Amino acid sequence: MLSFFKKIINKTSSINSVEVASAPEIQENKSAVGGPKIYTRPEHNISRSQINKNALKVLYRLKSEGYDAYLVGGCVRDLLLGREPKDFDVATNASPEQVKRAFRNCRIVGRRFRLAHVVFGRDMIEVATFRGAGDNAKSAPKADQEGRLLRDNSYGTLAEDAVRRDFTVNALYYNIKDFSIVDYVGGMEDHKAGVIRLIGEPELRYREDPVRMIRLVRFAVKLGFTVNPDCEKPIFELAELLANIPAARLQDEALKLFLSGYAVQTYEMLRHYGLFQYLYPAAEKSLSSEDNGFPKMFIAKALENTDQRIVEGKSIAPYFLFSTFLWDAVSTQAEANITAGLPESIAYQQAASKVIAEQVQHTAFPKYIGMAMRDVWAMQPRFIARGGSKAFRLLSHPKFRAAYDFLVLRAETGGADKALADWWTEFQNVSESEQKNMVANLKRSGPKKRRRRRKPIVKSQIDD
Ligand code: ATP
Ligand code: MG
Repeated sequence: MLSFFKKIINKTSSINSVEVASAPEIQENKSAVGGPKIYTRPEHNISRSQINKNALKVLYRLKSEGYDAYLVGGCVRDLLLGREPKDFDVATNASPEQVKRAFRNCRIVGRRFRLAHVVFGRDMIEVATFRGAGDNAKSAPKADQEGRLLRDNSYGTLAEDAVRRDFTVNALYYNIKDFSIVDYVGGMEDHKAGVIRLIGEPELRYREDPVRMIRLVRFAVKLGFTVNPDCEKPIFELAELLANIPAARLQDEALKLFLSGYAVQTYEMLRHYGLFQYLYPAAEKSLSSEDNGFPKMFIAKALENTDQRIVEGKSIAPYFLFSTFLWDAVSTQAEANITAGLPESIAYQQAASKVIAEQVQHTAFPKYIGMAMRDVWAMQPRFIARGGSKAFRLLSHPKFRAAYDFLVLRAETGGADKALADWWTEFQNVSESEQKNMVANLKRSGPKKRRRRRKPIVKSQIDD
């Protein structure tokens, strides 16, 4: 896992910015920091047996070298809930160079803010030196006109490191010296009450990094926590700041949002706060249109299926869900292209190109995801004409299974002919001679080619 600040810095470094002399909110936080609350070992439930062996090795080694070393962030939060953390992050007062000297298996990553990665075969423990508020002009955090942090690369104390984190429950430190939990921000109380709350002044913290609005939703849903009302209010106004976030960063977030087993609730909450439109504007447009019955049901069912597959331990292809988000936009554009005289396959290809080109401005997914989406979309009209060898050709397509699942989903939610989906279900499950019969019988009884009716369009709407 890359450090959060490294992510922010790397992806925003090209932005032309106005530098500010200091970040007042951070100074404010700093002076507000009193002594921490310490929860001794009997006062919390984290035991060493739950901690990743390699993380423990790192913590002990740093300690024996005379440094302070803590587990921090998501792992402490998840262990307190009795959940298995995704990864274990360490924070220390040792510099990256000092960490490197303490471990043979360590490499330093990151140019501006350097982090140590201690590697154990396929496992890796990230060790970050405490981040500071930056007391001199050179190292002070830099923000743009909207208050977004652009540069943020000085070392600091544990107290400073704590207040720069996003949510109180993400700023708890497990101390390897005495197995206590150190809490500068009231995170333990929020944890016990099940509340997700930003550290410091919400509006300023969102302006510093608008992605925190999305993270708030992700954690509220994942942890089953309620959102502190003061942290909720500013979102409705500040959501638009997400428009300036690099699309690669939003794509990383989108994967975590929708492929972690809580897609349905996450989607509902994102829409409630007006955040979804900054991730998938084309989907938001089809959902808010008058004729929204089908896309609404279709996307809802796709989200539900994604969560269900995770419950069942099945694999998830990220492109599948994202292709459902964009289907209405693609099919609407394709129909416009057909009405304007383009052959069906070209109409779909061009519609797909247009929708993907627009979408990657918001969530920049890799090319192979776009290719897979195209295949799934392009096969939808091809499911209708099945005569001759067409059905057999389709069946041997590498993306047939995904495209068929997509068709079934459409049929279940009113966007495609149920009889057509049933035909394909049967076709896959019968012998070759029966398949030939099914194709031969099509002319007499097969479902008619059917298109959803759309408003007439003018030629200028066609993508070329
Ligand atoms: P997950 O279990 O989803 O990985 P996490 O809390 O570990 O949750 P990460 O994105 O891995 O989340 O970040 C690790 C820690 O870094 C967080 O717990 C938080 O303390 C801090 N952090 C991450 N992103 C931000 C941010 N945008 N602003 C401030 N602090 C952040
Ligand atoms: Mg993490």
